[in-house]
Amino acid sequence: MRDNTPCGSCGRQIGMGAPVCPFCGATQPAVASASQSDKSILVVALLCLFFGVLEQFNV
Ligand SMILES: [Zn+2]
Repeated sequence: MRDNTPCGSCGRQIGMGAPVCPFCGATQPAVASASQSDKSILVVALLCLFFGVLEQFNV
């Protein structure tokens, strides 16, 4: 069973990841994978901060 998502323009169910709505032809926004990479960057930044603090305590 394929995942569907409502069209941002007409609201009909279209295939998830479809670039355009087959019913009204509206361009669909790209799947937000950018926010996920932003979170990864935040985690890395927090880890760097964490280990930086640890280093200060060890010295
Ligand atoms: Zn549509």
